[in-house]
Amino acid sequence: MPPAPAARTPRAALAELLAGNRRFVSGQPVHGHDVTAAAAVASGDQQPYAVLLGCIDSRVPLEAIFDQTFGSICVIRTGAHVLDRAVCGSIEYVVGQLGVRLVMVLGHERCGAVGSAVDALRSERRPGGSLRYVVDRIAPAVHEVGVDDPDAHPLAIRRHVRRTVATLRADDLLAGPVTAGEVAVVGALYDLATGEVALLPEE
Ligand SMILES: [Zn+2]
Repeated sequence: MPPAPAARTPRAALAELLAGNRRFVSGQPVHGHDVTAAAAVASGDQQPYAVLLGCIDSRVPLEAIFDQTFGSICVIRTGAHVLDRAVCGSIEYVVGQLGVRLVMVLGHERCGAVGSAVDALRSERRPGGSLRYVVDRIAPAVHEVGVDDPDAHPLAIRRHVRRTVATLRADDLLAGPVTAGEVAVVGALYDLATGEVALLPEE
C-alpha cells in the first residue's frame, strides 16, 4: 500500500503510524498476516513515510506493532536505540533522499540495555568490548535521573528516549528541516504488556 499523499507531512505521518498501532492493539491488523513474497513484490518502489529507530529487543518488532507493510517504513534497531554515525547517516539518508518527514524514536518498558547501564553504573563495572560503547551512550540518561533512584530503570528509559530525540533534532543535516517544521522527530514508548505506543509529551 503506497503512502497516501497526506502522509507526506509530519503530522499526517504520525497519525498514520499511531493508527497502525491501534489496529495492532485491537487485534485487527490490515497487514499483520501478509508476510508473503506477494506483499513484497507489490511494494514496488519504496515510498516510506516514516523512519523508526527502536531497540533490538525481540519483543518489539516495529513493522508488526505499527501494522506496517513492505515499503511503508524504514526501521533501524540498536540496543536501546543508541545512536552512532551509521545510524545518524542512515536517518539523514531517509530524510534527505527519500523525503521522509517523520522520525520516531521508540523506547520500551523493561529495556534490558538500559537495565545494563543502570547495573554498570551502580556496580561501577563497565562491560568490555563494544557493549561498553552502548552502555556508555545510555549512562548520561541514568545519571540525569539518579543512579540510586529506585525507579532509575523506568525513568532512564524515558530520559534516554528524550536525549536521543534531542540529539537527532540537533543533527547537522536534520536541524534545518526540523526547525523549519518540515521534519518532526518524536519520542515514544512501547508498553510490552499492552502493545500500545504512547508519545512522550514534549518537555
Ligand atoms: Zn530494549
